[in-house]
Amino acid sequence: MKYISTRGKSPARNFEEVLLTGLAPDGGLYIPEAVPQVSPAQLAGWKDLGYAELAFEIIRLYVDDCMPAEDLREIVNETYAVFSHPDVAPLTPMADNEYVLELFHGPTLAFKDFALQLLGRLLDYFLARRRKHVAILGATSGDTGSAALEGCRHCEWVDMYILYPHNRVSEVQRRQMTTVPGDNVNSLALEGNFDDCQNIVKKAFADQSFLPEGYQLVAVNSINFSRIMAQIVYYFYAALKINGAQAPVSFSVPTGNFGDIYAGYLAKKMGLPVDRLVIATNKNDILHRFMSSNQYNLEDLEPSLSPSMDIMVSSNFERFLFDLFKGDTDRVTDFVTGLSRDPQTVSNEEWAFAKAIFDSCRVDDDTTCETISGVYAEYGYLLDPHTATGIKAARVCCANNPAPVVCLATAHPAKFADAITRAGLETPALPPHLSDLMKREERTTVLPATLDAVTGFIQKTL
Ligand SMILES: *Cc1c(COP(=O)(O)O)cnc(C)c1O
Repeated sequence: MKYISTRGKSPARNFEEVLLTGLAPDGGLYIPEAVPQVSPAQLAGWKDLGYAELAFEIIRLYVDDCMPAEDLREIVNETYAVFSHPDVAPLTPMADNEYVLELFHGPTLAFKDFALQLLGRLLDYFLARRRKHVAILGATSGDTGSAALEGCRHCEWVDMYILYPHNRVSEVQRRQMTTVPGDNVNSLALEGNFDDCQNIVKKAFADQSFLPEGYQLVAVNSINFSRIMAQIVYYFYAALKINGAQAPVSFSVPTGNFGDIYAGYLAKKMGLPVDRLVIATNKNDILHRFMSSNQYNLEDLEPSLSPSMDIMVSSNFERFLFDLFKGDTDRVTDFVTGLSRDPQTVSNEEWAFAKAIFDSCRVDDDTTCETISGVYAEYGYLLDPHTATGIKAARVCCANNPAPVVCLATAHPAKFADAITRAGLETPALPPHLSDLMKREERTTVLPATLDAVTGFIQKTL
């Protein structure tokens, strides 16, 4: 199995190489050259598998011959054993024909644990085999940082540096990053905003000469294909639970960078019967603008109650554009690089192709709060603000649709107290494994928001 770049100017790579690089050298994103197909008979055979068993069956198709099957099985079993719910991703019925898929039972209470717990273990496996050290460098405004630190803290071959804007993340989010134990994990508070953090990361990746001989940087944001791969599993899991994947199911996905919903798109391409894929956005709605008016353009970023969906551009949309433009990598490149100058559009035929797969809905902060309080009043179920956008979008887009709809619950409500308070409800307690979070000792380093300060710190501590 080979992976190719969406921009067509980098050689094809295998899974191990893709995992260890992240972005392709031509600036593109890696996608599978051919998406593995699952037959109806195979699907029927997966009906009663537990989460980890199903994950193994799906992930092996993407890892292919990079690893002996028994090693992969062990890694996958270990990964999903750290989740606190026996079902790993429990499915809760809500309204008629509507389900919530709880993806927040991992160590950091957001769906990002599904991918990052696996990524840390896969990285360490391949690096140990190569006897090679890497440094992970990433910028975060929220959930990715803690999930990545938790996922890699046991890695022998990985040193990790997560940059976040000093005094600009919530207390729970900060504590989740600064209390992770381990000599190899570092959270750095930069005296700047999230864009400053991200720019420093980009510059460090572009010129890695500050690293000691033999070291390289690895990216763990959702441009790393291994993260998408891990997320495909729960689409299958939910559909198998609902109807044995024998009839179409729709999914509503709180969306920022388009990583999670792209995994749903791949599940559909693999052969899972999927009806609609609903893109839920907050007021940062570039994807909704595209879906509703064929206009893909930049607008200023506005902070919202669902901060993990606050994006100007959805980087993984480029992966879908490759299919939309039928593999024409020059058009993909023009569309993505042209965005900084002009709004982008596609042909009517292409737009219709996108609309045949995806629906979209923009949910503002007030509607998010109304949804949280409404669902609580009716079902006694507390939604986090990201999940609330997904529920609302499902109700708008799938109202007259016979297929069951699964709303992805991407975070635990205790992580986002602001929105819960604004919805007029009491913040729930953190789950037992995090109940002492506010008392744990914090470990962080405050640095000026400059490339030199960050690379200097890395050199000193590697
Ligand atoms: C990251 C995140 C999202 C957005 O996921 P994408 O893959 O970036 O579209 C939604 N909700 C929560 C809670 C998140 O952490």
